Amino acid sequence: MLIKSVLEQKPRSGVITIGVTQTVLTAIQKMCDETVGALLVHSEKGETVGILTERDILRFSAKRAMELSEVPISAVMKKNPVVVTPDTTLDQAQSIMTEKRFRHLPVVENGKIVGMVSIGDLVKAKLTETMGEVKHLLDYIANA
Ligand code: AMP
Repeated sequence: MLIKSVLEQKPRSGVITIGVTQTVLTAIQKMCDETVGALLVHSEKGETVGILTERDILRFSAKRAMELSEVPISAVMKKNPVVVTPDTTLDQAQSIMTEKRFRHLPVVENGKIVGMVSIGDLVKAKLTETMGEVKHLLDYIANA
């Protein structure tokens, strides 16, 4: 299965983004409003420059929680996110997430962000694929 199929199965296709100069508190509010665990961060020119996830905010909050409404996202995000393409396989994406300990991967096609997949999306897609195979085998056995 390819990442493009995973994107097709997602109920919402858009990627939620935030500007690099916004504060970390604004990012938290956006994550809660949009019910997502990661935001792609864009520059004033609209280029994707980083990724900010719940884990970055948790790590920052452990030491500097009082500054959440002052510190810009640029100080907390991870620059230059690792990305996949629509033609990356599910197994390849899972390997990247496991090896690098990420739960989110932006999807890029021809230099443009076309989606974001989370570890939850991959698990769901894998389950759907496995259930399809099981049904196929059961049908095969029933008709043998
Ligand atoms: P996550 O498990 O996705 O919440 O992320 C764990 C850490 O990896 C955080 O510091 C994230 O900013 C970072 N991270 C998550 N996804 C990516 C990615 N695709 N590229 C680079 N860093 C990432």
